[in-house]
Amino acid sequence: MRHSSFRPEGESRMKVGFIGLGTMGRPMAGHIIDGGHQLVVFDKVAPPSELAAKGATSCSSSREVAENADVVIIMVPNTPDVEAVLFAENGVAEGLSAGKTVIDMSSISPIATKEFAAKIAALGCDYLDAPVSGGEIGAKAGSLSIMVGGSPESFDRIKPLLDLMGKNITLVGGVGDGQTAKVANQIIVALTIEAVGEALLFASKAGADPARVREALMGGFASSRILEVHGERMIKRTFDPGFRIDLHQKDLNLALEGARQLKMALPNTASCQQLFSVCAAQGGSTWDHSAMVRALELMANAEIGQKH
Ligand code: NAD
Repeated sequence: MRHSSFRPEGESRMKVGFIGLGTMGRPMAGHIIDGGHQLVVFDKVAPPSELAAKGATSCSSSREVAENADVVIIMVPNTPDVEAVLFAENGVAEGLSAGKTVIDMSSISPIATKEFAAKIAALGCDYLDAPVSGGEIGAKAGSLSIMVGGSPESFDRIKPLLDLMGKNITLVGGVGDGQTAKVANQIIVALTIEAVGEALLFASKAGADPARVREALMGGFASSRILEVHGERMIKRTFDPGFRIDLHQKDLNLALEGARQLKMALPNTASCQQLFSVCAAQGGSTWDHSAMVRALELMANAEIGQKH
């Protein structure tokens, strides 16, 4: 856990609400309280006791969080979940008053984000989208990359909170542009997993040691974090998530739906989505996304590391 040496006092100590305390939200909320801010939390399942032990107050609804915080952070799975948190009965919108700020850090639709932001603005509140990259490891280490959409003034105001959770924090543009950047990120990640999977499977079926091949490639132009981390997962057969295939399918859907609206093709994004569907058909929706290689292995009738 990262602890801030700077303890905010007076006006810089914020009343923060956090909704969605799963794989990502739990460690991220921990950094907010470690950073010296007041924290109120809500999850539809019981919130982790470690947050209460640090002094976080549990609320019984998203509305109660919004009533008791000036900045409300949301970290739930998908677009309909964010919509429910904001606008369902006992949702955030019912508890907001003018001058408060909503930050959605989930990865959801850029188009829906603009609609949500307009409804929140009509209540006299600010809205920023701030999806993240870096996974559970980055969330725990407080080293996430954060891609932000919103006004520069709101960004400057909430930046001290983002600094507690991330390292590479970029204001990409207006509301929705953070989500667009995240979709672009997920296209690159999916296609690179596919490339690493094809390459290591080819090397293995050709009789080379895939671990030695990975090692050789790590020093050259083909090196990447995905070859390093997910290449190792493919070789060691460690497919516990990590980042679940069903969440990555959700992100590729956002890419493919967006592309259809923009009248453009994303041919390799579409094939990666199909490879994830092969995994889902094998019961693999909750496998780590590096397990995309299993779909390629089915087609090759071979497994990485298998002796021939
Ligand atoms: P998760 O499923 O582990 O956690 C989501 C939490 O939200 C759960 O505790 C759930 O109970 C809660 N929740 C859902 N609907 C709710 C509601 N209406 N009210 C209150 N709580 C509700 O998911 P996660 O892995 O933490 O991912 C969250 C978001 O972050 C997703 O959009 C995901 O794509 C993104 N993300 C995840 C990772 C990762 O590695 N897991 C990495 C980057 C981005």
